[in-house]
Amino acid sequence: MAKTGFQGARQEDWTPDALVQGGGNVWRPFTQMATEAPPLPVAATHGVRIRLEDGRELIDGMASWWTACHGYNHPHITGAIAGQLEIMPHVMFGGLCHEAATTLARRLARMLPGDLDHVFFCDSGSVAVEIALKMAIQFWINHGVRGRTKFAAFRHGYHGDTMGAMAVSDTEDGMHQVFAGALAENFILDLPRTKAELAAFDSFLGRNRDVLAGVIMEPLVQAAGGMKFHDADTLAAIFAACRRHDVLFLADEVATGFGRTGSMFGCDQAGIAPDILCLSKALTGGTIGLGATVANARVYDAFLGDDLGRALMHGPTFMANPLACAAANASLDLFEAEPRLQEVKAIEARLADALAPCRGIEAVRDVRALGAIGVIELTKMRDLEWLRRRFVELGVWLRPFGDMVYVMPAFTIGADDLGRITDAMVQVVGEWSRRG
Ligand code: PLP
Repeated sequence: MAKTGFQGARQEDWTPDALVQGGGNVWRPFTQMATEAPPLPVAATHGVRIRLEDGRELIDGMASWWTACHGYNHPHITGAIAGQLEIMPHVMFGGLCHEAATTLARRLARMLPGDLDHVFFCDSGSVAVEIALKMAIQFWINHGVRGRTKFAAFRHGYHGDTMGAMAVSDTEDGMHQVFAGALAENFILDLPRTKAELAAFDSFLGRNRDVLAGVIMEPLVQAAGGMKFHDADTLAAIFAACRRHDVLFLADEVATGFGRTGSMFGCDQAGIAPDILCLSKALTGGTIGLGATVANARVYDAFLGDDLGRALMHGPTFMANPLACAAANASLDLFEAEPRLQEVKAIEARLADALAPCRGIEAVRDVRALGAIGVIELTKMRDLEWLRRRFVELGVWLRPFGDMVYVMPAFTIGADDLGRITDAMVQVVGEWSRRG
């Protein structure tokens, strides 16, 4: 019997053969099931360690898709979930509410910039983005304005895998190309950085404001679309242009929220308060799926009235799940009690230092670090499987993709563990370059 004790669990489900195509019943994410190497069966996680079923331990540099900011199994979070489990694992949110959610909403409103005071919960980042897009479109409809249904978004942007989120992501270069003809048509623009580009962006908004519901972007870091950084001035200038032309500004902080870029939210560094802001990933410290779309007073007020037709008609079954809200409250406790942002600053300095030697490697286009994000951009990607395997052989968990080898660890990672990861990055990228 497998150690889970699940009914129907079988030891043979854990053999590599069972996990490749034709073997198991699991269809894996972003995976060519016909050819890709089988996944590594994980027995347990702890701190910044992933323990495999075969006994090997990997030092984790991914924080499980950038969520586990306090490391795995933090006792304060697991304790909060266990406590909540005893009381109420779930209850529907239509017509009912509970303390875990109301407390969390109040805390988020207090820590977010400006008057982002109205929190709509859901269960993932993609859905948080879908809700943000719906809010923006209906905002204009509720004001009696017709035709403002499109969005401007940016090349290299990534906002999730659902249809609306894909339609504001970079469909040409990104991972959603295949759906290009099936998605809502929006404006996908080069991110304006120079004075001239910003002026062109400003006049673009002026020309198109009658069809634009909003502009959506990832503050400071375009993450899954290539780990591209931009500075706070660029973010502030894009925001200012939206204000000038009365186009709603939607900040997708699913990846950047909760300290990843060195401030609690990316928007903080630009001193801006968006109209709508999306959260997920590290919201629960990486324990349970939870998303939130937060609106300012102007957006929220547009939905008020005595007509249900003005209301936001959205309500995911598991929205505001009490276990997830308890986990998120516990995660916020840790941000208050422990020096997470200082830890991120220290990680940034270590990453900048430790990855610098890669600048001399022929196959490397760029090396950069911001907050707890370290990136080695390669001139082209080949042998992705080789790269991934090599890191596991060296005892670290990294998952290069696109043209990048990158690290986004837990903020609690120690200098030694981070050093082992960055040493492996420098070594493997060097080996990879020499392979030609
Ligand atoms: N938005 C951003 C900026 C993201 O990085 C992601 C996921 O990587 C998403 C949205 C989608 O989140 P989820 O995978 O939880 O649906």
